[in-house]
Amino acid sequence: MDDLSQAIRKYALKNAAEHGSARDSAVLAKVLSLDPSLKKDMKALATQVASVVKEINAMDKGALQKAYSEYKEEFEKEHLEKAAKSASHNFYVEGAVEGSFKTRFAPEPSGYMHIGHAKAVFIETELARIYRGSVSLYFDDTNPAKERQEFVDALKKDAKWLGLSFSDEYYASDNISYEYKCAEKLIKKGHAYVCFCSADTIGEKRSGGEGCGHRNQTEDANLSFWKNMINGEYGENQVSLRFKGDMKALNTVMRDPVLFRIKKDVHYRQGDKYVAWPSYDFNTPVIDSIKGITHAARSKEYELRDELYDKLLDLLEMRKPRIIEFSRFEIANNMTSKRNTNKLIEDGLVSGYDDPRLVTITALRKRGVRPEAIRDFVLRSGMGKSESRSSMEELLALNRRAIDESSKRLFFVREPVRLEVAGIDKIEVKLPLHPSAELGHREYSCSGVYYIDRNDADALEVGSMARLKGAFNIRVIEASDNLLRAEYKGTEKIDALIMQWVSEGNFVQANLTLIGELLKDDEFNRNSMVKVNGYAESYASGLKDNDTVQFERIGFFKFDAKDGTFFSL
Ligand SMILES: [Zn+2]
Repeated sequence: MDDLSQAIRKYALKNAAEHGSARDSAVLAKVLSLDPSLKKDMKALATQVASVVKEINAMDKGALQKAYSEYKEEFEKEHLEKAAKSASHNFYVEGAVEGSFKTRFAPEPSGYMHIGHAKAVFIETELARIYRGSVSLYFDDTNPAKERQEFVDALKKDAKWLGLSFSDEYYASDNISYEYKCAEKLIKKGHAYVCFCSADTIGEKRSGGEGCGHRNQTEDANLSFWKNMINGEYGENQVSLRFKGDMKALNTVMRDPVLFRIKKDVHYRQGDKYVAWPSYDFNTPVIDSIKGITHAARSKEYELRDELYDKLLDLLEMRKPRIIEFSRFEIANNMTSKRNTNKLIEDGLVSGYDDPRLVTITALRKRGVRPEAIRDFVLRSGMGKSESRSSMEELLALNRRAIDESSKRLFFVREPVRLEVAGIDKIEVKLPLHPSAELGHREYSCSGVYYIDRNDADALEVGSMARLKGAFNIRVIEASDNLLRAEYKGTEKIDALIMQWVSEGNFVQANLTLIGELLKDDEFNRNSMVKVNGYAESYASGLKDNDTVQFERIGFFKFDAKDGTFFSL
Protein backbone atom coordinates (compact mmCIF):
# COMPACT_ATOMS: atom_id res chain seq x y z
CA MET A 1 0.00 0.00 0.00
CA ASP A 2 1.28 3.50 -0.75
CA ASP A 3 1.35 6.27 1.87
CA LEU A 4 -1.96 7.77 0.78
CA SER A 5 -3.82 4.45 0.89
CA GLN A 6 -2.29 3.81 4.29
CA ALA A 7 -3.44 7.19 5.60
CA ILE A 8 -6.97 6.73 4.28
CA ARG A 9 -7.22 3.30 5.84
CA LYS A 10 -5.81 4.53 9.15
CA TYR A 11 -8.23 7.44 9.56
CA ALA A 12 -11.17 5.46 8.29
CA LEU A 13 -10.44 2.85 10.96
CA LYS A 14 -10.17 5.55 13.61
CA ASN A 15 -13.41 7.15 12.49
CA ALA A 16 -15.16 3.79 12.52
CA ALA A 17 -13.72 2.78 15.91
CA GLU A 18 -14.80 6.06 17.46
CA HIS A 19 -18.24 6.45 15.90
CA GLY A 20 -19.38 2.93 15.10
CA SER A 21 -18.98 3.46 11.37
CA ALA A 22 -16.76 5.60 9.18
CA ARG A 23 -18.02 8.54 7.13
CA ASP A 24 -16.51 9.57 3.77
CA SER A 25 -16.59 13.28 4.59
CA ALA A 26 -14.73 12.93 7.91
CA VAL A 27 -12.00 10.79 6.41
CA LEU A 28 -11.69 13.05 3.38
CA ALA A 29 -11.34 16.14 5.57
CA LYS A 30 -8.68 14.50 7.71
CA VAL A 31 -6.62 13.33 4.74
CA LEU A 32 -6.86 16.76 3.10
CA SER A 33 -5.76 18.51 6.28
CA LEU A 34 -2.60 16.41 6.23
CA ASP A 35 -1.86 17.08 2.58
CA PRO A 36 -3.79 20.01 1.02
CA SER A 37 -2.17 19.35 -2.37
CA LEU A 38 -4.55 16.40 -2.76
CA LYS A 39 -7.28 18.94 -3.61
CA LYS A 40 -5.89 18.91 -7.15
CA ASP A 41 -7.70 15.70 -7.90
CA MET A 42 -10.65 15.63 -5.56
CA LYS A 43 -12.66 13.24 -7.69
CA ALA A 44 -10.04 10.49 -7.60
CA LEU A 45 -9.44 11.03 -3.90
CA ALA A 46 -13.15 10.91 -3.07
CA THR A 47 -13.54 7.68 -5.02
CA GLN A 48 -10.59 6.11 -3.25
CA VAL A 49 -11.87 7.21 0.19
CA ALA A 50 -15.37 5.94 -0.55
CA SER A 51 -14.08 2.50 -1.47
CA VAL A 52 -11.92 2.18 1.66
CA VAL A 53 -14.74 3.43 3.90
CA LYS A 54 -17.12 0.93 2.37
CA GLU A 55 -14.67 -1.89 2.95
CA ILE A 56 -14.08 -0.86 6.58
CA ASN A 57 -17.77 -0.43 7.35
CA ALA A 58 -18.26 -3.98 6.18
CA MET A 59 -15.81 -5.37 8.75
CA ASP A 60 -17.18 -7.07 11.85
CA LYS A 61 -16.48 -5.49 15.21
CA GLY A 62 -13.65 -7.82 16.23
CA ALA A 63 -11.78 -7.42 12.97
CA LEU A 64 -12.24 -3.67 13.13
CA GLN A 65 -10.83 -3.46 16.65
CA LYS A 66 -7.89 -5.63 15.71
CA ALA A 67 -7.05 -3.55 12.64
CA TYR A 68 -7.47 -0.34 14.61
CA SER A 69 -5.21 -1.52 17.43
CA GLU A 70 -2.31 -1.82 15.00
CA TYR A 71 -2.30 1.98 14.78
CA LYS A 72 -2.74 2.53 18.51
CA GLU A 73 0.80 3.77 19.13
CA GLU A 74 0.67 6.14 16.17
CA PHE A 75 -2.59 7.65 17.36
CA GLU A 76 -1.25 8.02 20.86
CA LYS A 77 1.77 9.88 19.53
CA GLU A 78 -0.38 12.18 17.41
CA HIS A 79 -2.64 12.88 20.36
CA LEU A 80 0.28 13.85 22.57
CA GLU A 81 1.81 16.11 19.96
CA LYS A 82 -1.49 17.89 19.45
CA ALA A 83 -2.01 18.34 23.19
CA ALA A 84 1.51 19.68 23.66
CA LYS A 85 0.94 22.26 20.92
CA SER A 86 -2.30 23.54 22.38
CA ALA A 87 -1.14 23.60 26.01
CA SER A 88 -1.07 27.11 27.36
CA HIS A 89 2.44 27.41 28.65
CA ASN A 90 1.70 30.91 29.69
CA PHE A 91 4.40 31.51 32.24
CA TYR A 92 4.22 35.25 32.42
CA VAL A 93 4.12 36.85 35.83
CA GLU A 94 3.21 40.43 36.55
CA GLY A 95 5.86 42.46 38.29
CA ALA A 96 8.58 39.84 37.91
CA VAL A 97 12.03 41.30 37.33
CA GLU A 98 14.69 39.17 35.70
CA GLY A 99 17.44 38.39 38.15
CA SER A 100 15.49 39.28 41.29
CA PHE A 101 12.63 36.84 41.26
CA LYS A 102 12.21 34.76 44.39
CA THR A 103 9.48 32.31 45.19
CA ARG A 104 8.99 29.35 47.50
CA PHE A 105 7.54 25.88 47.61
CA ALA A 106 5.48 25.77 50.82
CA PRO A 107 4.34 22.29 51.85
CA GLU A 108 3.01 21.54 55.30
CA PRO A 109 4.90 18.51 56.67
CA SER A 110 1.71 16.73 57.62
CA GLY A 111 1.50 14.28 54.74
CA TYR A 112 3.20 13.01 51.63
CA MET A 113 3.95 15.00 48.52
CA HIS A 114 1.36 14.43 45.81
CA ILE A 115 0.78 15.41 42.20
CA GLY A 116 -0.84 18.73 43.28
CA HIS A 117 2.34 19.74 45.12
CA ALA A 118 4.31 18.70 42.06
CA LYS A 119 2.30 21.12 39.94
CA ALA A 120 3.05 24.02 42.32
CA VAL A 121 6.74 23.34 42.61
CA PHE A 122 7.31 22.68 38.90
CA ILE A 123 5.53 25.92 38.00
CA GLU A 124 7.64 27.79 40.54
CA THR A 125 10.81 26.20 39.25
CA GLU A 126 9.85 27.03 35.67
CA LEU A 127 9.23 30.67 36.64
CA ALA A 128 12.55 30.84 38.47
CA ARG A 129 14.24 29.54 35.35
CA ILE A 130 12.51 32.05 33.09
CA TYR A 131 13.15 35.02 35.39
CA ARG A 132 16.59 33.84 36.49
CA GLY A 133 15.46 33.70 40.09
CA SER A 134 15.28 31.13 42.86
CA VAL A 135 12.92 28.81 44.69
CA SER A 136 13.16 28.28 48.45
CA LEU A 137 11.84 25.29 50.31
CA TYR A 138 9.59 26.58 53.09
CA PHE A 139 8.03 24.23 55.61
CA ASP A 140 4.75 25.69 56.78
CA ASP A 141 4.85 23.90 60.12
CA THR A 142 2.84 25.62 62.82
CA ASN A 143 0.34 22.91 63.67
CA PRO A 144 2.15 20.61 66.12
CA ALA A 145 -0.77 18.18 66.22
CA LYS A 146 -0.29 17.20 62.58
CA GLU A 147 3.34 17.68 61.61
CA ARG A 148 6.17 15.20 61.82
CA GLN A 149 9.85 14.95 60.92
CA GLU A 150 9.01 11.82 58.91
CA PHE A 151 7.00 14.01 56.50
CA VAL A 152 9.78 16.60 56.24
CA ASP A 153 12.20 13.83 55.28
CA ALA A 154 9.76 12.26 52.84
CA LEU A 155 9.00 15.60 51.15
CA LYS A 156 12.70 16.28 50.70
CA LYS A 157 13.32 12.81 49.33
CA ASP A 158 10.44 13.09 46.86
CA ALA A 159 11.50 16.57 45.72
CA LYS A 160 15.02 15.30 45.14
CA TRP A 161 13.74 12.35 43.15
CA LEU A 162 11.72 14.75 40.99
CA GLY A 163 15.00 16.47 40.18
CA LEU A 164 14.20 19.64 42.10
CA SER A 165 16.68 21.75 43.96
CA PHE A 166 16.14 24.76 46.19
CA SER A 167 18.24 27.81 46.91
CA ASP A 168 17.59 27.50 50.65
CA GLU A 169 15.36 25.85 53.19
CA TYR A 170 13.52 27.37 56.15
CA TYR A 171 10.77 26.60 58.62
CA ALA A 172 7.90 28.76 59.84
CA SER A 173 8.33 27.31 63.33
CA ASP A 174 11.86 28.74 63.58
CA ASN A 175 10.34 32.22 63.45
CA ILE A 176 7.67 32.06 66.14
CA SER A 177 9.21 34.66 68.45
CA TYR A 178 9.36 37.10 65.54
CA GLU A 179 5.71 36.38 64.79
CA TYR A 180 4.87 37.08 68.45
CA LYS A 181 6.41 40.54 68.05
CA CYS A 182 4.27 41.14 64.97
CA ALA A 183 1.16 40.04 66.87
CA GLU A 184 1.99 42.43 69.71
CA LYS A 185 2.35 45.25 67.23
CA LEU A 186 -1.11 44.55 65.83
CA ILE A 187 -2.62 44.41 69.33
CA LYS A 188 -1.02 47.70 70.33
CA LYS A 189 -2.39 49.37 67.20
CA GLY A 190 -5.87 48.03 67.96
CA HIS A 191 -5.98 45.58 65.04
CA ALA A 192 -6.14 42.35 67.02
CA TYR A 193 -7.90 41.15 70.16
CA VAL A 194 -7.97 38.13 72.41
CA CYS A 195 -11.28 36.29 72.15
CA PHE A 196 -12.56 33.72 74.63
CA CYS A 197 -15.47 32.50 72.54
CA SER A 198 -15.66 28.83 71.58
CA ALA A 199 -14.89 27.81 68.01
CA ASP A 200 -18.62 27.15 67.47
CA THR A 201 -19.60 30.63 68.66
CA ILE A 202 -16.92 32.22 66.52
CA GLY A 203 -18.17 30.30 63.51
CA GLU A 204 -21.81 31.22 64.09
CA LYS A 205 -21.08 34.89 64.65
CA ARG A 206 -18.82 35.06 61.61
CA SER A 207 -21.48 33.65 59.35
CA GLY A 208 -24.10 35.90 60.95
CA GLY A 209 -21.84 38.94 60.50
CA GLU A 210 -21.82 40.00 64.15
CA GLY A 211 -18.96 40.66 66.53
CA CYS A 212 -18.54 39.36 70.11
CA GLY A 213 -17.97 41.37 73.30
CA HIS A 214 -14.21 40.66 73.26
CA ARG A 215 -13.92 42.89 70.27
CA ASN A 216 -14.34 45.91 72.52
CA GLN A 217 -11.62 45.09 75.07
CA THR A 218 -8.96 47.76 75.57
CA GLU A 219 -5.52 47.36 74.02
CA ASP A 220 -4.05 46.96 77.52
CA ALA A 221 -6.45 44.16 78.39
CA ASN A 222 -5.69 42.43 75.09
CA LEU A 223 -1.95 42.75 75.65
CA SER A 224 -2.18 41.19 79.07
CA PHE A 225 -4.42 38.33 77.83
CA TRP A 226 -1.97 37.82 74.96
CA LYS A 227 0.94 37.52 77.42
CA ASN A 228 -1.04 34.89 79.29
CA MET A 229 -1.74 33.14 76.03
CA ILE A 230 1.90 32.77 75.02
CA ASN A 231 2.89 31.88 78.58
CA GLY A 232 0.66 28.83 78.50
CA GLU A 233 -1.94 29.92 81.02
CA TYR A 234 -4.91 28.87 78.90
CA GLY A 235 -5.97 25.50 77.62
CA GLU A 236 -6.65 24.51 74.02
CA ASN A 237 -9.92 25.81 72.57
CA GLN A 238 -10.25 28.37 75.39
CA VAL A 239 -8.84 31.35 73.64
CA SER A 240 -7.60 32.78 70.33
CA LEU A 241 -6.04 35.93 69.01
CA ARG A 242 -8.22 37.37 66.27
CA PHE A 243 -7.74 40.00 63.64
CA LYS A 244 -10.10 42.96 64.04
CA GLY A 245 -11.41 43.06 60.51
CA ASP A 246 -14.94 43.81 59.40
CA MET A 247 -17.73 41.53 60.64
CA LYS A 248 -19.95 42.73 57.78
CA ALA A 249 -17.34 42.24 55.06
CA LEU A 250 -18.63 40.50 51.94
CA ASN A 251 -15.39 38.56 51.86
CA THR A 252 -16.05 36.39 54.90
CA VAL A 253 -12.32 35.77 55.38
CA MET A 254 -12.12 39.36 56.64
CA ARG A 255 -14.67 38.73 59.42
CA ASP A 256 -12.17 38.67 62.30
CA PRO A 257 -10.18 35.56 61.37
CA VAL A 258 -8.15 33.68 63.96
CA LEU A 259 -4.44 34.57 63.92
CA PHE A 260 -3.17 32.46 66.83
CA ARG A 261 -4.58 29.50 68.74
CA ILE A 262 -3.37 27.29 71.58
CA LYS A 263 -1.96 23.87 70.70
CA LYS A 264 -0.32 21.88 73.46
CA ASP A 265 1.05 18.97 71.44
CA VAL A 266 4.81 18.66 71.40
CA HIS A 267 6.14 20.10 68.14
CA TYR A 268 8.41 17.79 66.11
CA ARG A 269 11.00 20.55 65.72
CA GLN A 270 10.41 23.05 68.55
CA GLY A 271 9.45 20.63 71.31
CA ASP A 272 7.31 22.29 73.99
CA LYS A 273 8.82 25.74 73.52
CA TYR A 274 5.55 27.30 72.31
CA VAL A 275 1.86 26.80 72.98
CA ALA A 276 0.44 29.74 70.98
CA TRP A 277 0.70 28.87 67.28
CA PRO A 278 0.03 31.18 64.31
CA SER A 279 -2.58 30.22 61.74
CA TYR A 280 -1.77 29.78 58.06
CA ASP A 281 -3.29 33.22 57.41
CA PHE A 282 -0.84 34.93 59.74
CA ASN A 283 2.18 32.82 59.04
CA THR A 284 2.28 33.00 55.31
CA PRO A 285 2.46 36.78 54.73
CA VAL A 286 4.88 37.37 57.62
CA ILE A 287 7.33 34.63 56.66
CA ASP A 288 7.11 35.39 52.91
CA SER A 289 7.85 39.02 53.66
CA ILE A 290 10.86 38.49 55.93
CA LYS A 291 12.35 35.83 53.67
CA GLY A 292 12.48 38.14 50.67
CA ILE A 293 9.89 36.33 48.56
CA THR A 294 8.87 38.48 45.59
CA HIS A 295 6.12 36.18 44.33
CA ALA A 296 4.17 33.79 46.51
CA ALA A 297 2.44 31.12 44.47
CA ARG A 298 -0.65 29.32 45.66
CA SER A 299 -3.62 27.61 44.17
CA LYS A 300 -6.83 29.40 43.36
CA GLU A 301 -8.78 27.98 46.29
CA TYR A 302 -6.97 30.54 48.50
CA GLU A 303 -8.13 33.47 46.42
CA LEU A 304 -10.36 34.94 49.13
CA ARG A 305 -7.44 34.98 51.55
CA ASP A 306 -5.39 37.35 49.38
CA GLU A 307 -7.08 40.41 50.85
CA LEU A 308 -6.09 39.37 54.38
CA TYR A 309 -2.52 38.61 53.27
CA ASP A 310 -2.11 42.13 51.91
CA LYS A 311 -3.97 43.81 54.77
CA LEU A 312 -1.84 42.23 57.50
CA LEU A 313 1.40 43.28 55.81
CA ASP A 314 0.08 46.83 55.32
CA LEU A 315 -0.80 47.10 59.01
CA LEU A 316 2.53 45.62 60.05
CA GLU A 317 4.29 48.02 57.67
CA MET A 318 6.12 45.14 56.05
CA ARG A 319 7.20 44.55 52.45
CA LYS A 320 4.45 42.94 50.39
CA PRO A 321 5.20 40.04 48.04
CA ARG A 322 2.87 39.56 45.09
CA ILE A 323 0.59 36.58 45.02
CA ILE A 324 0.38 34.44 41.91
CA GLU A 325 -2.35 31.90 41.48
CA PHE A 326 -3.01 28.83 39.43
CA SER A 327 -5.81 26.32 39.34
CA ARG A 328 -5.86 23.30 41.59
CA PHE A 329 -4.75 20.11 39.99
CA GLU A 330 -7.28 17.32 39.83
CA ILE A 331 -6.94 13.86 38.45
CA ALA A 332 -10.16 12.24 37.33
CA ASN A 333 -11.10 9.16 39.38
CA ASN A 334 -8.30 9.73 41.85
CA MET A 335 -7.71 11.94 44.88
CA THR A 336 -5.10 13.96 46.68
CA SER A 337 -7.07 14.58 49.87
CA LYS A 338 -5.16 13.44 52.93
CA ARG A 339 -8.31 12.66 54.87
CA ASN A 340 -9.81 10.46 52.15
CA THR A 341 -6.51 8.72 51.49
CA ASN A 342 -6.08 7.97 55.19
CA LYS A 343 -9.53 6.47 55.21
CA LEU A 344 -8.63 4.08 52.37
CA ILE A 345 -5.47 3.07 54.22
CA GLU A 346 -7.30 2.55 57.53
CA ASP A 347 -9.95 0.46 55.80
CA GLY A 348 -7.20 -1.66 54.27
CA LEU A 349 -8.33 -0.86 50.72
CA VAL A 350 -4.94 0.48 49.71
CA SER A 351 -1.66 -0.65 51.23
CA GLY A 352 -0.22 2.73 52.23
CA TYR A 353 0.86 6.08 50.83
CA ASP A 354 2.99 4.29 48.26
CA ASP A 355 0.19 2.09 46.95
CA PRO A 356 0.71 2.30 43.16
CA ARG A 357 -2.90 3.32 42.56
CA LEU A 358 -2.44 6.63 44.37
CA VAL A 359 -1.07 9.91 43.03
CA THR A 360 1.40 10.64 45.81
CA ILE A 361 4.91 11.01 44.46
CA THR A 362 6.05 7.94 46.37
CA ALA A 363 3.22 5.92 44.80
CA LEU A 364 3.99 7.15 41.28
CA ARG A 365 7.64 6.28 41.82
CA LYS A 366 6.75 2.80 43.01
CA ARG A 367 4.49 2.30 40.04
CA GLY A 368 7.28 3.24 37.62
CA VAL A 369 6.29 6.73 36.47
CA ARG A 370 9.33 8.80 35.54
CA PRO A 371 9.96 12.29 37.00
CA GLU A 372 10.16 13.86 33.53
CA ALA A 373 6.72 12.51 32.68
CA ILE A 374 5.31 14.03 35.88
CA ARG A 375 6.93 17.34 35.06
CA ASP A 376 5.57 17.45 31.51
CA PHE A 377 2.18 16.39 32.76
CA VAL A 378 1.77 19.09 35.42
CA LEU A 379 3.27 21.87 33.33
CA ARG A 380 0.82 21.23 30.51
CA SER A 381 -1.97 22.93 32.40
CA GLY A 382 0.34 25.94 32.72
CA MET A 383 -0.72 28.79 34.93
CA GLY A 384 -4.30 28.82 33.75
CA LYS A 385 -6.83 29.56 36.46
CA SER A 386 -9.68 27.54 35.08
CA GLU A 387 -10.20 24.23 36.82
CA SER A 388 -9.07 21.39 34.68
CA ARG A 389 -9.25 17.68 35.22
CA SER A 390 -6.49 15.59 33.88
CA SER A 391 -6.55 11.86 33.58
CA MET A 392 -4.14 9.25 34.79
CA GLU A 393 -4.14 7.91 31.23
CA GLU A 394 -2.59 11.18 30.02
CA LEU A 395 0.22 10.88 32.54
CA LEU A 396 0.81 7.25 31.60
CA ALA A 397 0.90 8.09 27.89
CA LEU A 398 3.63 10.66 28.57
CA ASN A 399 5.40 8.12 30.70
CA ARG A 400 5.29 5.44 28.01
CA ARG A 401 6.98 7.89 25.70
CA ALA A 402 9.65 8.50 28.35
CA ILE A 403 10.40 4.81 28.94
CA ASP A 404 9.88 3.41 25.45
CA GLU A 405 13.51 3.54 24.34
CA SER A 406 14.86 1.89 27.47
CA SER A 407 12.16 -0.75 27.99
CA LYS A 408 13.08 -4.21 26.83
CA ARG A 409 10.49 -6.20 24.90
CA LEU A 410 9.70 -9.57 26.40
CA PHE A 411 7.10 -12.31 26.04
CA PHE A 412 4.54 -13.15 28.67
CA VAL A 413 1.80 -15.69 28.27
CA ARG A 414 -1.34 -15.55 30.35
CA GLU A 415 -3.10 -18.80 31.26
CA PRO A 416 -0.39 -20.82 29.51
CA VAL A 417 -1.50 -23.64 27.22
CA ARG A 418 0.99 -26.36 26.28
CA LEU A 419 1.99 -26.59 22.64
CA GLU A 420 3.98 -29.57 21.37
CA VAL A 421 5.67 -29.09 18.03
CA ALA A 422 6.70 -32.13 16.05
CA GLY A 423 9.69 -31.91 13.75
CA ILE A 424 11.96 -30.00 16.11
CA ASP A 425 14.75 -31.60 18.02
CA LYS A 426 16.57 -28.51 19.09
CA ILE A 427 16.45 -24.95 17.76
CA GLU A 428 18.37 -21.81 18.76
CA VAL A 429 16.28 -18.65 18.83
CA LYS A 430 17.76 -15.17 19.05
CA LEU A 431 15.35 -12.32 19.63
CA PRO A 432 16.09 -8.57 19.76
CA LEU A 433 15.23 -6.86 23.08
CA HIS A 434 13.93 -3.77 21.28
CA PRO A 435 12.66 -3.22 17.73
CA SER A 436 14.79 -0.11 17.14
CA ALA A 437 16.96 0.79 20.12
CA GLU A 438 20.23 -1.11 20.56
CA LEU A 439 19.39 -3.04 23.70
CA GLY A 440 20.89 -6.36 22.67
CA HIS A 441 19.30 -9.80 22.35
CA ARG A 442 18.13 -12.75 24.34
CA GLU A 443 18.79 -16.27 23.18
CA TYR A 444 17.07 -19.53 23.95
CA SER A 445 17.81 -23.08 23.13
CA CYS A 446 14.41 -24.66 22.52
CA SER A 447 13.11 -28.17 22.08
CA GLY A 448 9.63 -29.18 20.95
CA VAL A 449 7.59 -27.96 23.93
CA TYR A 450 6.17 -24.44 24.21
CA TYR A 451 3.49 -22.50 26.09
CA ILE A 452 1.22 -19.98 24.46
CA ASP A 453 -1.44 -17.56 25.70
CA ARG A 454 -4.93 -18.97 26.27
CA ASN A 455 -6.39 -16.35 23.91
CA ASP A 456 -4.14 -17.48 21.10
CA ALA A 457 -4.75 -21.16 21.85
CA ASP A 458 -8.51 -20.59 21.66
CA ALA A 459 -8.15 -19.00 18.25
CA LEU A 460 -6.40 -22.06 16.80
CA GLU A 461 -8.06 -25.12 15.35
CA VAL A 462 -6.87 -28.14 13.48
CA GLY A 463 -5.29 -26.98 10.21
CA SER A 464 -4.58 -23.41 11.43
CA MET A 465 -1.25 -21.88 10.56
CA ALA A 466 0.39 -19.63 13.14
CA ARG A 467 3.79 -18.09 13.85
CA LEU A 468 5.75 -18.13 17.10
CA LYS A 469 6.98 -14.56 17.03
CA GLY A 470 10.61 -14.22 16.02
CA ALA A 471 11.00 -17.99 15.65
CA PHE A 472 9.09 -20.27 13.27
CA ASN A 473 5.72 -21.29 11.87
CA ILE A 474 3.46 -24.14 12.84
CA ARG A 475 0.40 -25.94 11.56
CA VAL A 476 -1.99 -27.30 14.17
CA ILE A 477 -2.67 -31.01 13.90
CA GLU A 478 -4.55 -31.65 17.12
CA ALA A 479 -6.36 -29.24 19.43
CA SER A 480 -7.93 -29.85 22.82
CA ASP A 481 -8.60 -27.54 25.72
CA ASN A 482 -5.26 -27.86 27.43
CA LEU A 483 -2.98 -29.21 24.77
CA LEU A 484 -2.17 -28.36 21.19
CA ARG A 485 -0.11 -30.49 18.86
CA ALA A 486 1.41 -28.95 15.77
CA GLU A 487 4.04 -29.52 13.15
CA TYR A 488 7.01 -27.33 12.32
CA LYS A 489 6.51 -25.32 9.11
CA GLY A 490 9.76 -23.43 8.59
CA THR A 491 10.90 -19.95 9.52
CA GLU A 492 9.86 -17.88 6.53
CA LYS A 493 7.56 -15.01 7.54
CA ILE A 494 3.93 -15.75 6.75
CA ASP A 495 0.66 -13.91 7.07
CA ALA A 496 -0.87 -15.75 10.04
CA LEU A 497 -1.59 -15.34 13.72
CA ILE A 498 1.60 -14.18 15.42
CA MET A 499 1.88 -15.48 18.96
CA GLN A 500 4.01 -14.82 21.97
CA TRP A 501 5.49 -17.91 23.49
CA VAL A 502 7.85 -19.33 26.05
CA SER A 503 9.63 -22.64 25.70
CA GLU A 504 10.05 -25.53 28.10
CA GLY A 505 13.04 -24.87 30.38
CA ASN A 506 13.18 -21.20 29.42
CA PHE A 507 10.40 -19.58 31.43
CA VAL A 508 9.63 -18.38 34.93
CA GLN A 509 6.35 -18.04 36.77
CA ALA A 510 5.48 -14.36 37.00
CA ASN A 511 2.55 -12.20 37.90
CA LEU A 512 1.32 -8.93 36.55
CA THR A 513 -0.54 -6.35 38.60
CA LEU A 514 -2.97 -4.55 36.33
CA ILE A 515 -3.78 -1.17 37.82
CA GLY A 516 -7.02 0.58 36.98
CA GLU A 517 -8.56 3.77 38.24
CA LEU A 518 -8.74 4.21 42.00
CA LEU A 519 -12.30 5.50 42.00
CA LYS A 520 -15.39 4.63 40.03
CA ASP A 521 -18.43 6.89 40.32
CA ASP A 522 -16.65 8.56 43.25
CA GLU A 523 -16.46 5.30 45.19
CA PHE A 524 -13.44 3.06 45.69
CA ASN A 525 -13.07 0.87 42.62
CA ARG A 526 -12.95 -2.73 43.86
CA ASN A 527 -11.35 -3.79 40.58
CA SER A 528 -8.63 -1.15 40.70
CA MET A 529 -5.98 -3.84 41.08
CA VAL A 530 -6.10 -7.19 39.33
CA LYS A 531 -3.40 -9.87 39.45
CA VAL A 532 -2.68 -11.98 36.40
CA ASN A 533 -0.46 -15.05 36.61
CA GLY A 534 1.44 -16.53 33.75
CA TYR A 535 4.82 -17.47 32.36
CA ALA A 536 7.44 -14.92 31.40
CA GLU A 537 10.46 -15.90 29.34
CA SER A 538 13.40 -16.62 31.60
CA TYR A 539 15.20 -13.39 30.68
CA ALA A 540 12.72 -11.73 33.07
CA SER A 541 14.32 -13.43 36.06
CA GLY A 542 17.41 -11.23 35.61
CA LEU A 543 15.47 -7.96 35.79
CA LYS A 544 16.34 -5.52 38.55
CA ASP A 545 14.03 -3.57 40.79
CA ASN A 546 12.47 -0.62 38.87
CA ASP A 547 13.35 -1.96 35.42
CA THR A 548 10.61 -1.26 32.92
CA VAL A 549 9.68 -3.71 30.18
CA GLN A 550 7.08 -4.06 27.50
CA PHE A 551 5.36 -7.41 27.51
CA GLU A 552 4.46 -7.47 23.88
CA ARG A 553 0.78 -7.07 23.09
CA ILE A 554 0.01 -6.57 26.81
CA GLY A 555 1.73 -3.31 27.63
CA PHE A 556 4.44 -1.60 29.63
CA PHE A 557 5.26 -2.77 33.14
CA LYS A 558 7.62 -1.93 35.95
CA PHE A 559 9.27 -4.74 37.87
CA ASP A 560 8.91 -4.33 41.61
CA ALA A 561 11.37 -6.62 43.34
CA LYS A 562 9.94 -6.01 46.81
CA ASP A 563 6.40 -6.98 45.87
CA GLY A 564 7.61 -9.57 43.35
CA THR A 565 5.28 -8.34 40.63
CA PHE A 566 5.06 -6.21 37.52
CA PHE A 567 2.94 -3.03 37.77
CA SER A 568 1.13 -1.99 34.61
CA LEU A 569 2.10 1.39 33.17
ZN1 LIG B 1 -15.26 36.49 71.60
